[in-house]
Formats: sequence, structure tokens, C-alpha cells
Amino acid sequence: MTAKLIDGKEIAKKIREGIKKEVSAMAKKPGLAAIIVGENPASKIYVGIKRRTCDEVGIYSEEHKLPEKTSEEELLELIRKLNADDKIHAILLQLPVPNHINSEKALSAIALEKDVDGFSPVNIGRLVSGNESFVPCTPKGIIRLLEETGIEIEGKNAVVVGRSNIVGKPTASMLLNRNATVTVCHSRTKNLGKITKQADILVVAVGKANMITKDMVKEGAVVIDVGMNDVDGKLTGDVDFENVKEKASWITPVPGGVGPMTVAMLLENTVKIYNEIEIK
Ligand code: NDP
Repeated sequence: MTAKLIDGKEIAKKIREGIKKEVSAMAKKPGLAAIIVGENPASKIYVGIKRRTCDEVGIYSEEHKLPEKTSEEELLELIRKLNADDKIHAILLQLPVPNHINSEKALSAIALEKDVDGFSPVNIGRLVSGNESFVPCTPKGIIRLLEETGIEIEGKNAVVVGRSNIVGKPTASMLLNRNATVTVCHSRTKNLGKITKQADILVVAVGKANMITKDMVKEGAVVIDVGMNDVDGKLTGDVDFENVKEKASWITPVPGGVGPMTVAMLLENTVKIYNEIEIK
């Protein structure tokens, strides 16, 4: 079997076009503030992409780049200011933050109605209890890719490799909420390949180039590759795409799969917040 491509770039483009149309008819512009603390190069790239995409669809955006030595109190003060700012509907704190800042405290300080990434403890609690409100953008993008491609989730065996708070765990919760039977694997999992081979839907979010090989995948599986690794200057996923595509039924490419969806879901969440705040 040769897999069909799940074209995240194309699906995300359609979503952005819909958002642009919706925003152009709005009385005010939705506003997104992104905060980065420190010098993480990947964070700077993500925030740059997010800003350009906001411009493209007509969302007002602000970038707050704080130095590495920013104190927790200074960060909390900025968050409080943005919470009270009428131009700003959505606040994104780019993770990771430096070690001297308690990320949970900072995320909890974001006003619940402006928590665009769904990382506050309340929104995580809602997700885990099956009452989804604002959900993290990458997991939301993964589910949307499956839905847009017409892939049934209910009753499927789903395996998620990776258990981070920003990708693996929320993706597992979202799949479970949609009635998949979910297994979560991590660095201590034994016989990983034996487990991944049971997956009808395999989501990989580890950060190790080409770690999922053809022998670890079931014939006809749907494979979603979240990984973004730099291999000799080339963006490469966690899945050995060239070989796994011979066995899967559907597969996401890297780049052009999950990445563009993450940004599209951020815009969608920003517009959702705007509508909740401005059109009560
Ligand atoms: P983290 O480093 O936070 O988590 C990685 C996870 O992989 C951990 O749970 C870890 O297990 C697990 N792991 C590590 N080694 C193995 C192994 N050998 N076998 C099985 N599991 C393993 O990463 P993130 O979740 O933040 O990101 C994962 C990847 O996704 C990265 O490449 C990142 O760049 C990419 N990414 C892409 C996005 C997009 O929009 N496309 C958005 C966010 C991330 P343990 O918990 O035991 O340590």
C-alpha cells in the first residue's frame, strides 16, 4: 500500500482563508499577544511565523520579547497588563520559560477567557474531564487533520508516542474524548515497536528524527508525524517517511503536515475568544 498524503498545508490554507473572511467583517480586530522569555531560537521562529500569519488574516498581534533574566514578578505584571487590555483578546506564553520562572504560575495568571493555547490548569482540567473548552493548538490541529480527511476516530486503536504537556498528553485526551482506545508511550516504554504496530492511528511527538521505522507500523495505519528535527539543515519528522509511506494508508509530511495546522488553530482560537468576549 502507498499512503495518501494528509496535506496540512492545504487544509491550513483553507482555514486561514475562512478566518480572513470572518475577520474582515468584524467591527474591531481580534488581538493576540505573544510573550517570549529568553533566547530559545525555536520559540523566536514560531512566534515570528505566528505574527506573519496574524498579519495575513487581519488579526492584530503584539510580540513581547523579555530578556532571560526577567523575574517571575515582571512576567506576571506584563500578563496582568495584557489581561486588562481591551485590544488583546488572546494571550500566548511561549514555552519553555527559563527555569527560575514557575510556568504553571505564569500560565495560571493568564485570564481564563484569554487563554488561547488552553494551557491553564482550568482548561487542562476541562480537557481531561471530557468538557473541552480551549484546547492546545497542536493537538487541536492533529484532530482537525483527521476530521478533514474523513478518518474515523471512534473505536480505533490510537497510539501516541510522547507524553509532553503541550502535545502528547492533550492529544491522547482528545483522542480518548472521541472514543478511541488510547495508549501513550514514552522514553521508558518497553517494546515500543510492538505497541506502535497495534495502532490504527499513530501519533508521534518525540523529537528524534526518523525513529519510527516501517517495521513499527501496522499495514494501513494512519500516521501523524508531529516531530520537527533539524537534520543537516533539513526539517525532518520523527517518522521514516519514505519507507513508512509504503505501509500506511494516510501519512502527514514534514514539513507541511501538523506545523501549519498549529498556527491555523491559534488563529481560530483567537477568533473564538474574540467572539466570546465581544459578542456576548
Ligand atoms: P518533549 O521533549 O517535551 O517530549 C518528548 C516526549 O518523547 C517525552 O514524553 C519523552 O518521554 C518521549 N520520548 C523521548 N525519547 C523517546 C523514545 N526513545 N521512545 C519513546 N518516547 C520517547 O517534546 P514535545 O512534545 O514538545 O515535542 C515533540 C516533537 O514535536 C519535537 O520534535 C517538537 O519540535 C515537535 N513539535 C512540533 C509542533 C508542530 O506544530 N509541528 C508543535 C510542538 C512540538 P519522557 O516523558 O519519558 O521523557
